[in-house]
Order: sequence, then structure tokens, then C-alpha cells
Amino acid sequence: MFKRILVANRGEIALRVIRACHDLGIEAVAVYSEADRDAPYLALADDTVCIGPGPAIESYLVVNRLIAAAEVTNSEAIHPGYGFLSENARFAEVCRESAIEFIGPPPEAMLRLGDKNAARAVAQEAGVPVVPGSNILEPDMDIAGIAKSIGYPVLIKASAGGGGRGMRVVREESALLASISSARQEAESAFKDGRVYMEKYIDRPRHVEVQILGDRQGNLVHLYERDCSMQRRHQKLVEESPAPRLPVEVRDAMCTAAVKLARTVGYYSAGTCEFLVDQENRFYFIEVNARIQVEHPVTELVTGVDLVREQIRVASGESLRFAQKEIVHRGCAIECRINAEDPTQNFRPSPGLITRWQPAGGPGVRLDTHAVAGYRVPPNYDSLVAKLLVFQPTREEALATMRRALSEFVVEGIHTTIPIHARIMNHPEFIAGRGYTTFIERELLG
Ligand code: ADP
Repeated sequence: MFKRILVANRGEIALRVIRACHDLGIEAVAVYSEADRDAPYLALADDTVCIGPGPAIESYLVVNRLIAAAEVTNSEAIHPGYGFLSENARFAEVCRESAIEFIGPPPEAMLRLGDKNAARAVAQEAGVPVVPGSNILEPDMDIAGIAKSIGYPVLIKASAGGGGRGMRVVREESALLASISSARQEAESAFKDGRVYMEKYIDRPRHVEVQILGDRQGNLVHLYERDCSMQRRHQKLVEESPAPRLPVEVRDAMCTAAVKLARTVGYYSAGTCEFLVDQENRFYFIEVNARIQVEHPVTELVTGVDLVREQIRVASGESLRFAQKEIVHRGCAIECRINAEDPTQNFRPSPGLITRWQPAGGPGVRLDTHAVAGYRVPPNYDSLVAKLLVFQPTREEALATMRRALSEFVVEGIHTTIPIHARIMNHPEFIAGRGYTTFIERELLG
């Protein structure tokens, strides 16, 4: 097992990884940008290294600085968290070349899955259904003909996409070319990669994803599903497991498909296979997230498996400690993402000083956060300040605990998404398990 791990991230996930290290008796080295210099969680690390100025492009995204930080602190492994360099195959390769263990999947698998359009081909190779769609769109193609054969509405997607960027819904041919060029431009500026493709736009789907975990010995298991249908602008706000009203045979087929797909690329470590489920309960693969996800604690609560600790164990060469049949799903877990955003101002980011922080607690509540009273949320990064989770035997009880926890949680000085979560948890259609990906926009904000 490792003695020291460098945590190449910030905020709640950095703290989450530091805690997993300490649970395993491993020292954790935290890195920080100048904007995070005063972050309280840094005091929990065994060592810290400043990696540059506030903008991520000059700190958390600079491969050489992270490698140097690992080298000067004698860290044997790097945990990338999510976002930043976590899905960067080149970073995983440089770690390997520097004899530092990258706590994640092999770079070869990341390369095959990192590109959405290429990942679709992998899914098809594995016999997993994909959303009807096209290859990368090239200027000499009959683009209008392709859209027509898929059938409107279609969705233009950036192959390098993430965070909902580079996506455009097109409802009729007259808007097609303009939407493609604006999606290309957005993808080019966000990812330096303007390649786009087309998918059938599925009407009011649910987003259901399957957690997978594998070791280097070739053992691969799934840890059941999470429903992440409650989104705003294609960004998840609420996640839960089990997926409400999902027939058990559909769930089983999705879990089997996810493992098959992962096996096709020689996957190990934690990862997530994302699917859309249409109103007839047909499922379609959309992408793989080759890293730990924000919503991983939902799965930890319903399976009792600590995914971050398992990632570290398998990276050190250990075999998985359980077979598929030993992974039991029980109860219901729900997560609300508490973002520093103002729901009354179109979810504008709301960084600044937290003057009061009275967290929720008590039976059935887990709170993953790096925030405390007196903490200043920097404007430089994503706005997630806390993940409020509940775990109860049934969904009805989990919803009641979440309502109670949201009402206990008091944050002052910044705006947060707490009020919108309270509305979601009280909405009769959500309570009935009838959420879908555009529900919040249509039913709550529309
Ligand atoms: P990103 O990587 O940018 O998050 P994803 O491919 O994971 O993009 O899709 C994000 C969300 O966009 C999905 O959860 C879903 O809400 C919506 N979406 C993606 N593809 C489709 C589609 N073909 N039809 C309808 N909605 C889609």
C-alpha cells in the first residue's frame, strides 16, 4: 500500500480523498492555488504545496506542477478527483512515465472512452444500445439528410464535451446549420476541439447511470444505478438510488451492459456508464465518466462500499475484496447538490464570505463539504459547496429526512440552491418518481 498520496484537486472532493487516505493510514498531500490558500481543509492534510495562481489553467490544470508537487513531497500516487485533470489521458500517461501511480483507469481506456463519439463505437462493439446518431459531422456530408434520417428533434453534441457545453437541440432543418456552427464554436473555445456529432433528441428521458469498479487483475463489478434526472441545463442537481419506477429487468440489463462495456476497454478503478431511459423504459448509452463522480456517495450509502478507498486499494495493486453477488443494494439514498448560486437570479454564481453556516445533521444524514463559517467561496471554480445526502430504508422516508435536513441547513452571506431543493422535494410529481431531465426547467422554473 502507498505511504503518501498527492490529492490533485480542491474543495469537497479534496477533503473526501484526504479522509479516505487517513482511513487507510496513508498520508495525504494537498495542493492549492493562491485563491484557495486559506481553505480550512488544507490543515487536515499532512503536507501542502502551492501550485500557482487562482485561475485553474495556471494551477490545477498544469500537469508539470502537479507532477513536481508529487515528486518534491515523495508522493507515490496521485488522486485526481473529478473535473480538472481527472479525465486527461495525457496526465495519466505522464504519471506513468514519472513512476507515479495515477489513481484511475488506464490511459488506454481513457483514450477510448474520453471522446463521446468514440465511446459510442465502443458501446456498439460491446453490443450496448446507443442513442440513434451520426459519426463526427464533416463539411462534405449531407448533414440535412443525416438529420432527416435520424428524425427531428436532434441534438448536436461536442465529442469532447462535458458539463453540458457544446450541445444544441435542433427542431427543424432551417435551424440546423446555424446550430452546428454555434455548437462547434462553443466546443472549440471550451475544449479546443470543435468536433460535433448528432443524436436523436429523446423526449423527457431519465438519466440513469451505473457505477462500476474494477481491479488490475481483470475483476469488474457494478454497484447498481443512480438516477440523476433532476438537472438544470443538463447539470445534475439531485441524484438518488435506486432509480424510482425502473423495472428490475431494465436495471439488470443496464448493469450488465455497463460491465460489458468496461470489459471491452480493459477498464479498472471506479467509473460510471451513463444512459438515457425513454418513456417506454428503453435505455441508450450516452457516455462513460472515467473517474470518481460528484454523486458517488449515493452509491456508498446504498452499498456500504467506500468507493474512494477501493480506488486507492486497486491502484496499489490489490484485488477487489468482493464478488458481484456480495454487493447488496439496500435502502434509498438521495443527494442534493448545494451550490453557491442564486436561484432567484437565474442561478448566477454567488461567491463570497459565508457568515453563518449551520449544517444539517442527525440520523440518516451525511454532509460532504469543505465549507465552514468564515470560509470565503472563491469566484474561480465551480460553485459546489456541499453535498447533502440522506439514507433511509424507503424513498418516502428518505424524502422526509431530506426535507427535514434542508430546513435545518442555514447558510448566510452567500446564496445557495437550498430553496430550490426544498421545492423539488415537495413537488408531487417528483415525490411520485416521475422526474425527467428537463423537469426542473419545465415544471419548476418555466
Ligand atoms: P456532458 O458530458 O456535457 O454532461 P452528457 O452526454 O453526459 O453531456 O449529457 C448530459 C445531459 O444532456 C444528459 O443527462 C441529458 O439530460 C441530456 N442529453 C444528452 N444526450 C441527450 C439526448 N440524445 N436526448 C435528450 N437529452 C440528452
